[in-house]
Amino acid sequence: MLNEKMTALGTQRSVIRELFEFGKQEAARIGAENVFDFSIGNPSVPAPACVNETAIKIIKETDPVALHGYTSAQGDAEARSAIAASINRRFGTDYTANNLYLTVGAAAALCCCFHGLCNADDEVIIFAPYFPEYTVFVEGAGAKPVIVPADTSAFQIDFDAFLRALSPATKAVIVNSPNNPSGVVYSEETVCRLADILREKSAEYGHPIYLIADEPYREIVFSGTTVPFLPDYYENTLVCYSWSKSLSLPGERLGYVLVPSKAKDAPLVYAAIAGAGRSLGYVNAPGLFQRVCAACADQTADISIYETNKNLLLHGLRDMGYQVVEPNGTFYMFPQSLEPDDEAFCERAKAHHLLIVPGCGFGCAGHVRISYCVPTERIEKALPAFQKLAEEYRA
Ligand code: PLP
Repeated sequence: MLNEKMTALGTQRSVIRELFEFGKQEAARIGAENVFDFSIGNPSVPAPACVNETAIKIIKETDPVALHGYTSAQGDAEARSAIAASINRRFGTDYTANNLYLTVGAAAALCCCFHGLCNADDEVIIFAPYFPEYTVFVEGAGAKPVIVPADTSAFQIDFDAFLRALSPATKAVIVNSPNNPSGVVYSEETVCRLADILREKSAEYGHPIYLIADEPYREIVFSGTTVPFLPDYYENTLVCYSWSKSLSLPGERLGYVLVPSKAKDAPLVYAAIAGAGRSLGYVNAPGLFQRVCAACADQTADISIYETNKNLLLHGLRDMGYQVVEPNGTFYMFPQSLEPDDEAFCERAKAHHLLIVPGCGFGCAGHVRISYCVPTERIEKALPAFQKLAEEYRA
């Protein structure tokens, strides 16, 4: 008998992947230019030049055996030092290689945190709307996801609902800002209030509640938006980062967990994360890209197209009567569906060759995610289809 849960996870494709595959079939049938695929969050801009240049230089100049050899389980010490130095330059911190555990993207960073922190039946609080894999990762670690319903007015935090969700079993709270799927960045006011509550409840329950900051979109923000650096606001913060989006490297699989020294029992937390990496078989993130990302850690891909696309889509949709909270980062937008049943709405959108993702999978029904990391031309061509869809509902 196979593990039923794993078999089910491996058998059912995610809604996003289903749509993406459907888009490919439709493209073959009616031509790619007639399919408006906004399903998947695959960066649409190339990695900056330094990525390939550094990779080539490393390949040419490194001893060929060392080049493809194992690194330390937690990542090459020099690469970790260079990444720590980059974080220190930007956030005025004093981290060292010992604060960083390199991982296979943010996904593995999150899994290492949940496995490292949680015992059976511990609870992890997740704010809707959320990246759907969170529940898979938390349950995979034997913990229980507790969902806090969305503040749909601004996609900040519904603090009354948060207070109701907290309990002595709360081990961690995960936040994702800039957010997938809303594109919203948490304000400093939100972060301060969150930190105050976490401090108060940690004291009341007699154990730390860890704040896990999932930040693959940290650098993808618009018009000078600043993203509060969460370890400055709450001492028990663990940062999960990835270069998948900021350097447009999702296929190379590199990220890290940052364990700040001032976190409670930081050396033990680091050890637990390393132990989780070991138990999951995640040791030694991809060696070449540890070095490449370390060398390019101060850089970002040219993300200007995301802001161009955001403005075009936001104003276009609002003019047609769609209700949209303005995103200030990422390459996602999360408008209200034109009927309460977001799945039915997405099905109707498909008839106009618009591939958008129902919000229910993100824990927030009545909304849809539009992933606009696409050529601007696709948005220009898709706007009339969004218009026809809106007219259908008005009729
Ligand atoms: N967290 C969020 C919010 C994401 O959107 C994604 C990927 O889309 C991930 C984590 C996983 O990122 P990675 O490719 O680094 O594993």
